[in-house]
Amino acid sequence: MSELSRLKALVTGGASGIGRATGVLLAARGADVAVLDLDPSSVDEPLRGYVADVSDDASVRSAVAAAAHELGGLDILVNNSGIGAAGTIEDNDDAQWHRGLDVNVLGVVRTTRAALPLLRASAHAAVVNTCSIAATAGLPQRALYSAGKGAVQALTLAMTADHVREGIRVNCVNPGTADTPWVGRLLDQASDPEAERAALNARQPMGRLVTAEEVAAAIAYLASPAAGSVTGTALAVDGGMQGLRLRPEEQ
Ligand code: NAD
Repeated sequence: MSELSRLKALVTGGASGIGRATGVLLAARGADVAVLDLDPSSVDEPLRGYVADVSDDASVRSAVAAAAHELGGLDILVNNSGIGAAGTIEDNDDAQWHRGLDVNVLGVVRTTRAALPLLRASAHAAVVNTCSIAATAGLPQRALYSAGKGAVQALTLAMTADHVREGIRVNCVNPGTADTPWVGRLLDQASDPEAERAALNARQPMGRLVTAEEVAAAIAYLASPAAGSVTGTALAVDGGMQGLRLRPEEQ
């Protein structure tokens, strides 16, 4: 029997990048997977796509209910949808701050809130939040984004405490810079995309970006029954970026 067979999973932001890789991997390991996204039109079988905007509570509730109905329950929730923001605290106005936190923090709240009654009924309930290295390292030009991801890491712990006695595990993954369409868009906007990519690669101790599949593998582990005693953790998938302090390479 496959590792995740008979488990029902919902992945937000599952039409692209890390979320897409996660949905595909969970399905390959035997889970029935639904994807919730602003535009799930690119989602292929066997994944099922549902339109929802995580900044809209009614839309989230109706998509979670529809997905759980089709799947026949819910065991795994991956809160992965997110948007980027660049700049110092001087560069984003209040509307941008409200929008960034609404999607990246309250998005986790809305989807989990809608899913909790279903997760309580599961014998293998797991929530995995896609957090970021931005929660634990000070990155330049990422004030709004980092504030949101810091909140997601703290929220992960608070949710863990609230729901541990209900049999619901909650963890997060903290990717370093990952080679997804998101980062592709950032590189496209740079004045010198090649130099920008080289700078991002150099920031990772391993000298390369993280892959979406590597983050998906960590999410799949945290979501699986094999991680049955793992809760309230943040698993870094960052090529060593958070923990290592290397000397410059000898020339
Ligand atoms: P991506 O842009 O490739 O995918 C994000 C997906 O989220 C898209 O399909 C998008 O449609 C969806 N989405 C955005 N806003 C939404 C909303 N309001 N409602 C529903 N869906 C919405 O990005 P990615 O790089 O795969 O990022 C996925 C997650 O990983 C994000 O939470 C991001 O913060 C996090 N992350 C990314 C990196 C990186 O370097 N790529 C690093 C650390 C953490």
